[in-house]
This record gives sequence, structure tokens and C-alpha cells, in this order.
Amino acid sequence: MKVSIIGAGMSGLCAGCYLQMNGFETEIFEKHFIPGGLCTSWHKNGYTIDGCIHWILGSDEGSSFHKMWSEILDMKKVEFVNHEVRLEMEVKTNFNKYGNKVFKLYTNLDQLHKYLLDLAPEDAKPINELIKSMRVMQKFDLPPVMDDLPFFEAMIRGIKMTKYLEFLYWFLKLKNETNYTFAKKLKNKFLRESFELLYDGNEVNILVITMPLSCFDKKSAGYPVGGSLEFAKKIEQKYLELGGKIHYKTPVKKIIVEDGVAKGLIVRNDVKHDSDIIISAADWHYTVFEALEGKFVNQHMIDLKDLKKLEVFYSVVHLGFGIAAELKDQPHFSRFPLNEVLELPDGTIYDRLEVHVYNYDPTMAPKGKSAVVVSFYTKKGDWWIDLRKNDRPKYREVKKQFTAKIAELLKKRIPNIDDKIEMSDMATPATVYRYTNNWKGSTQGWLPGENLLAASPVNFTLPGLKNFYNSSHWNQPGGGLPIALKTGRDIAKLICKQNKKIFTTPRLKAKA
Ligand SMILES: Cc1cc2nc3c(=O)[nH]c(=O)nc-3n(C[C@H](O)[C@H](O)[C@H](O)COP(=O)(O)OP(=O)(O)OC[C@H]3O[C@@H](n4cnc5c(N)ncnc54)[C@H](O)[C@@H]3O)c2cc1C
Repeated sequence: MKVSIIGAGMSGLCAGCYLQMNGFETEIFEKHFIPGGLCTSWHKNGYTIDGCIHWILGSDEGSSFHKMWSEILDMKKVEFVNHEVRLEMEVKTNFNKYGNKVFKLYTNLDQLHKYLLDLAPEDAKPINELIKSMRVMQKFDLPPVMDDLPFFEAMIRGIKMTKYLEFLYWFLKLKNETNYTFAKKLKNKFLRESFELLYDGNEVNILVITMPLSCFDKKSAGYPVGGSLEFAKKIEQKYLELGGKIHYKTPVKKIIVEDGVAKGLIVRNDVKHDSDIIISAADWHYTVFEALEGKFVNQHMIDLKDLKKLEVFYSVVHLGFGIAAELKDQPHFSRFPLNEVLELPDGTIYDRLEVHVYNYDPTMAPKGKSAVVVSFYTKKGDWWIDLRKNDRPKYREVKKQFTAKIAELLKKRIPNIDDKIEMSDMATPATVYRYTNNWKGSTQGWLPGENLLAASPVNFTLPGLKNFYNSSHWNQPGGGLPIALKTGRDIAKLICKQNKKIFTTPRLKAKA
């Protein structure tokens, strides 16, 4: 049975690997000339600018996500870095008891607990509750069910699953808690400000902050040395070894549908490819409203398109700098306020700078030098996409001027680098869109927002269309690589089920 997959991003590659393992003949059609989609890096003047991974769930042996990743790449060959401090953040107005404005988000929960209590003993109650909630989360492996089990084993697993009730209790307790509502419970002004600023000054469900923290402590959310593209290439290699085929530089123009059944693809130069099953692992908006011309939608999809149910995740303005200095003493990830507000060319106002110093990955820069990334998240992706489309010279000029401005701010912040910036590069939401097609330049699909249970996003299938599946970070608010992996796997399982095959992987076979 032949399956055509649109997109060699993480979800497309993963779906392809799992289907190949299960006896399907798959081909991927990718518009870019490299794999990975958003999971990418690029090179300039001897430096590597990483465009994606800061942490990836499943880097620890034993977790469900580690088991899944191990099915599609040799995790033993990936070296992960686990940072002691996730973020060093300088708040704007309040001082801590040590007379400075720096808040450190430790990744070790005991250390974080001690640190928070030391800063604000008067807030012991909310602090203890917060740490407790993370400790409870840690007891449970998420996602809890990942194997298709025979009836009795499934029953036993079901009984064991009752222990997840404790997790459910905390999940429901915190489902409406945000960093802002939590901050309101704090008497200590410095800590209150820190929690408000933790998600770049935005209000998000507290689980968006505590879930990753509970994983950092277990060393389950590391950074893969070599960066994002190298990570993606490992999965591409696995897919090819499994017999899959990738057609690079082959954008898909249309999905062919006959009598409500997806039959094939029309790609570059109007070449037609017939197939029994189509998976779109490309952007959902492009898939539904362009490749399928909006013919297979229900009210839910229309509401999603009109942004009535969920917000699109931020896009990013991503500035890479190559600095001829080691910068070993700099925090790897910091955020600090600016003396004057900074207006992004798209009008977004920033009063802080977010800086990543890749001083923990020697592959990112020549010896003795450092790759640095300054990023700005923006909801105005369309502004950049339209500017590049309608006025290319102005787009280039805006980039040039903004890069120069940020280089000056960086020089003020990092000592002794005045004459050491030897490479600069600026990617915008238009770059994200151009290379990956993500709607509005979204970096992670839908924004999780304040209420994680608010609305279901894009479904695996579309109403009225047979033999077609959606598989991407748009299937789950918050997106991310593990979601792309899991979605690809779930869709392969679904396709197996619908074709009366028992889904398997080498790991599941070895267990049987
Ligand atoms: C700056 C940044 C930081 C991030 N940090 C992290 C992190 O630390 N941890 C984490 O887990 N996640 C992170 N993410 C998110 C993560 O990268 C994405 O959620 C994930 O890669 C999405 O994978 P996907 O396969 O669903 O989609 P995509 O990566 O968008 O893949 C879609 C693929 O389809 C192709 N395509 C689109 N249209 C067509 C067409 N018409 N024809 C052919 N091909 C097409 C695209 O070229 C692309 O290759 C980050 C993302 C960004 C941008």
C-alpha cells in the first residue's frame, strides 16, 4: 500500500519511519532541500545558527518519549546537555534580598525550592505547593499509554493507571492557574515580578512552566549537542535506511480528490503522483485551505481559521551573531530589561532582550569563538511575510538596520566584544514561512494559552475525506518536537488499525 507524505519535518519523517516499519511503501515530498522543517540550523562564516531546539522531552533513558525517540534514532549516539540553570532573568523594578535583580530558574527542584524559600520565606505556602505539584508530575510518565496491548495486559495497565488519579487531581487543580494568578499569591515583590515575567511577560497556564521544570530536574529535557539540523538528519537517515524515499525541492501544489477519496498529489511542474493514502505533515492552514481548497471543513475548522478558538503560537525574529570570544562566563540563556523600550519593525514593543549564548555546544562556533542568538517572539508574523512579498528592498533594509541596532545593544551587555562581532544574520517570520510554510510564521502551531483544555485543535482526519490524515504540531496546542513525533506515531497506528494490521516497532517486537 502506497502512502504519500507532504513534508519532511519531524512529524512527516516520524510518520514515514513508523509506516515503513509496518510494511507500507512511503514517499515524502518536501519543498525544501533539507529535512527537519522548523527543526533546523544554518551556517554562516564558520558559525552555526540554531533555529530551534533548546530542550527536547525524552532525553532521559526510561521515559516514554525516550522510548519513542529510540524507535527512530539511536539515542545513545546523541549527547545531551542538561543545564543547571534554565534561565537567568533580570527583573525590571524589584531587588531581591541580595540587592540584585537577577532571578535564577534552577533546574534541580531541591535547589529551586531552597532558593525560592530563601528569597521569600513569607511565601512558603504557595512555593511548597508549586514544588509539590512538580514532584507529583514527576512520578508519572507522560504520555502514559504508548503501546497497543493485548486485552488482559491492557486491563492490568488500566488498573495501574488509576495511580494517575493523583496526577489528574493536580492537573485539574492547576488547569486555571497561570503565572499571573500564581504571582498574585506571593507577598514577596521580587518573586512576584519574576513569576509575571517568566513567560516573557505573558500570561500562560502555570503548567507550561512547571511541566518542563519537572522534566529538567529528571534530566528528561536536554539539549542535543550538534543542534537541530543534525538531530533531524539522524531521523532522515533512519527513514532512508527503512526504505523510504524523499523528494526534496518538490513542493506539493494540490491534493487530488475523487468522490471524497484522496487519490494523489500534484507537485512541482504539475507532476502527478498516485497514492492509496495521503498524510499532510505540512502546515494545517495550507493543507486545508489551499491544497484541498477548503472543501473538507466543518464549523470547528472555520472557527480555527478565524482564530475564534485558539491563538496561533508566536513567530520569531531570530538574530544570530558570531563573536570572536569564548564567552564562557556568560549565562547560556538570559533575559534582561532595556533602558529604553525597543520597537520591533512590526510595531511589537519590547522592554527586554533575550540572549542565548551557545557556550555549551562546541560545534556551533570555531574554537575560541561563540555563537549567540537574540530572539524576539512576535504575533505579527503576517507583517513580515507581507513586507517581504510586497517590498523586498525595504524588507532587506529593515533587517539591516535592526541587526545593527541589536548588535549595539549586545555590545553594551556583554563586556569586551565591541570589535569582536564578525558575523550577523537575521531570520524573520517571513523566513520561517518561506522555508516551512507555517501559517503566520508560527513556531509551534497553536498557542496553549491560559486554559490548556480550552479547545481541541486540528483533528487527524477531515470531514468528508477518506484516506487522508493531518500530522503535525498543529494537532496539539503548544506543539514541539515530541508532539510532532507522537502525532506521526499515532497516525501510523491509526492507519495500521484501519488497514487491519497490528502496529509494531522493533522495540515492541523485542518485548513480545
Ligand atoms: C525558534 C524555535 C524554537 C523552538 N524550540 C523548540 C524546543 O526547544 N523544543 C521543542 O520540542 N520544539 C521547539 N520548537 C518547535 C518545533 O520545532 C516544532 O513544533 C516542530 O518542529 C514541528 O514539526 P512538524 O513536523 O509538525 O512541522 P514543520 O517542522 O513545520 O514541518 C513541516 C514540513 O512540511 C514542509 N512543507 C510545507 N508545505 C509544503 C508543501 N506544500 N510541499 C512540500 N513540503 C511542504 C515544510 O517545508 C516542512 O519541512 C521550536 C521552534 C522554533 C521555530
